[in-house]
Amino acid sequence: MSTHTHAVFRPEVLTLSAYHVPSANGFVKLDAMENPYEWDEKTQTQWLETLKKCAINRYPDPQAHALTELLKHQNHLNQEYAILLGNGSDEIIQLLLMALTPNSHVLSTTPSFVMYKQISDVLGLNYHGVFLNSDTFDLNLSAMLEKIEKFHPKIIFLAYPNNPTGNLFDENAIKTIIEKSTGLVIIDEAYEPFANASFMSHLADYSNLLVMRTVSKLGLAGLRLGYLAGKRDIIEQLNKIRLPYNINVLTQASVQFALENKAIFDLQTQEICNQRTFLSNELKKFSEFTVYESYANFILFKTAENHANQIFDILKSENILIKNMHPQGGLVSDCLRVTVGKPEENELFLNALKKALS
Ligand SMILES: *Cc1c(COP(=O)(O)O)cnc(C)c1O
Repeated sequence: MSTHTHAVFRPEVLTLSAYHVPSANGFVKLDAMENPYEWDEKTQTQWLETLKKCAINRYPDPQAHALTELLKHQNHLNQEYAILLGNGSDEIIQLLLMALTPNSHVLSTTPSFVMYKQISDVLGLNYHGVFLNSDTFDLNLSAMLEKIEKFHPKIIFLAYPNNPTGNLFDENAIKTIIEKSTGLVIIDEAYEPFANASFMSHLADYSNLLVMRTVSKLGLAGLRLGYLAGKRDIIEQLNKIRLPYNINVLTQASVQFALENKAIFDLQTQEICNQRTFLSNELKKFSEFTVYESYANFILFKTAENHANQIFDILKSENILIKNMHPQGGLVSDCLRVTVGKPEENELFLNALKKALS
């Protein structure tokens, strides 16, 4: 490394390894929780018609007024609440953590969504990940409460359903955490479309609760739009550090169009949930696997000891890309995570799996 990098960048940055996204060219892509479906021709044409009206020579509406109002309306949020828009919920996580005082503590679970820790580390914050219970992947409530009492975390992230485990944490345990927390609690509902469970209706009960959503897993990962809903006074502070034009004009128009045609996604979501049941049942037929119940659009399963890497590699050689969780270690040692795809993709995955285990 050159002397320049050492002189210029913070140690937290130097020790970081880049977030690695494998190339997926030519693969059956079941690694990133994307919705596999495209839009029908007619919908695509209507969408392109709305894009034609976008003034790409002008800066976008910095408040994204139309989109924000639509999101508030669809989520039944009245004037007491406001919404912060982010370039993906990743950016919202970054904004939240950037706003904290130096040396703040941040709390989440292990395993959980990797960005909570990654961004906390970059910003030099004190991140704590409390291990989930090993058998159920549910919250270890007493361990969480202990950390809350000891460190008074400014922010607690709880993914509901959790990634990479796919389960919903116990609702009462979450409520206790919100009540005991002196900071903000972010319920990350990235997989809400597949879960039929949400804390959005509890915003009125707790002034320190915020609910984060994204359109990525719903079927619009390429547009990059996440949002955070909560009490007006909290969102107003965060809006001050948001870059004014973080949501581009094409994303604003496209998400608005998509949400006005939400029935398309409802059908796709239903199909994905049906395929989740199918895939889960098929995976359970492999005696080697422990298959965990999922409320998201992916399934986590555990292989025999030290077998995950080999299975992952064989699938890859068969052009099937899933996510190998084994390198993360801890509770997800020996685990693989597969995103629910189209029926034909799931069949290809299952066939390759049979080959890998024969
Ligand atoms: C995928 C994911 C996100 C990130 O969503 P983007 O809006 O695409 O940035 C956030 N939280 C969880 C739990 C996720 O799995």
